[in-house]
Amino acid sequence: MQPLPKLSVTLASDCDVLVIGGGPAGSTAATLLAERGYAVTLLEKAYHPRFHIGESLIPANLPLLEKLGVADEIRAIGMEKWGAEFVSPWHAHKQVYEFAGAKDKSMPMAYQVRRSEFDEILIRNASRKNARVVEGCQVQGVTFSADNASAEVKACHDDGTIETVRARFILDASGRDTFLGNHFKAKKRNKKHNSAAIYGHFSGVERHEGKAAGNITLYWFDHGWFWLIPLADGTTSIGVVVWPYYLKTRKNKLLEEFFQETIALCAPLSVRLKNAKLTSEVEATGNFSYECDRSHGSNYLLLGDAYAFIDPVFSSGVLLAMQSGFVGADTVDKCLSDPKQATAALKKFDKAMKIGPKEFSWFIYRITNPALRDLFMNPSNIFHVKEGVLSVLAGDVFGATNIRRPLRIFRTFYYINSLLNIRRTFKAWKMRKFNIRVVD
Ligand SMILES: Cc1cc2nc3c(=O)[nH]c(=O)nc-3n(C[C@H](O)[C@H](O)[C@H](O)COP(=O)(O)OP(=O)(O)OC[C@H]3O[C@@H](n4cnc5c(N)ncnc54)[C@H](O)[C@@H]3O)c2cc1C
Repeated sequence: MQPLPKLSVTLASDCDVLVIGGGPAGSTAATLLAERGYAVTLLEKAYHPRFHIGESLIPANLPLLEKLGVADEIRAIGMEKWGAEFVSPWHAHKQVYEFAGAKDKSMPMAYQVRRSEFDEILIRNASRKNARVVEGCQVQGVTFSADNASAEVKACHDDGTIETVRARFILDASGRDTFLGNHFKAKKRNKKHNSAAIYGHFSGVERHEGKAAGNITLYWFDHGWFWLIPLADGTTSIGVVVWPYYLKTRKNKLLEEFFQETIALCAPLSVRLKNAKLTSEVEATGNFSYECDRSHGSNYLLLGDAYAFIDPVFSSGVLLAMQSGFVGADTVDKCLSDPKQATAALKKFDKAMKIGPKEFSWFIYRITNPALRDLFMNPSNIFHVKEGVLSVLAGDVFGATNIRRPLRIFRTFYYINSLLNIRRTFKAWKMRKFNIRVVD
């Protein structure tokens, strides 16, 4: 007997807001809009819990978790992170920054989290707050109506079912897949930065004592820097962020072997890993520094990594993603409930989306520069400079605390240090230019 032809099933639905992607940005926005009574559909191509890199949170994340109502759940899975330790082969000592020293004393700590657990808590919360959450469903196409009053999204469920969803507003929270950025060809490589990363999970990594046990450690080395992130279950996340040319030197070597060889180039990290065992696959990701040339249209917004991502060095990605979810929810609410205010609301959103990348990028672009390294390794609190820098490390960059003056002074110190060491500065500038070149 001939096999029956496979039926192609097409579903159709309507909602107010369609969210593409259920990472921190998408789940945050979906929760807040559903709480305000909007019909929200969130489509996520994976199934939670799923692995994601980005395990170190910063203190400004915590008030957002409180507002979402998930603070207790996150506390239960998180490793307390009270500070960040910097280790440099060019300096004899280690430098620890404690968040309690930032200008705003109300945010002294954060958490290290397994993102599979963290992201699952956020997406289930969206569901609990009445967002329609569909996992295993990948958005594949979007058509905006001629009057920009609605859009139709085409998505494919894992069983092959095609669903079309008509929505008044689209939120792209698809992370580094940058769904709308690709759709509009709006994604641009960051010409000022370029890096690649390799990472994996280990057991048996040596931990610090007491409150410092959960600190993130950053180890500089010749080709970039390593992170060491202790997680609550005893696992430690180790990753290295390198210039793309260095990743290219791997050639045909197995990624795990290349990662272990790279770790061996960093003596103080190797000491902490002497009894460690790799417990996960080793993964790599490259050329991840980009920005989209727009953050919004009249009925869509780009949230979190779907808008921009520069570099993981200050652990700011999850905060910026969730913050964009909060600002994004306010913006959609304004646009849908009071269309006369839409233009102003979208302008405000655009401005808000630029704050994080602007504040962090000044430090990111210079993190491997010897002048900045000197200042980081020998902090002084003259004119509250250290408090200002700590406020940035804590993610307190959205205007609640006045950090303008200390940061201006810090930058002046940086430029003076650079001038006083002009040959070193020129060499570092030339080297960075070479390092950030595009490598296939
Ligand atoms: C090497 C590295 C290390 C990092 N370390 C840190 C860190 O320590 N701390 C930190 O805060 N940040 C870190 N980050 C950044 C952090 O991972 C991201 O900034 C953060 O996850 C962004 O959240 P998001 O919600 O915007 O996107 P994501 O978390 O990426 O979520 C996007 C979701 O969209 C889904 N999706 C994608 N396309 C579609 C589609 N077409 N249809 C349906 N669903 C789709 C994906 O499956 C995913 O679940 C790191 C990044 C890198 C590259």
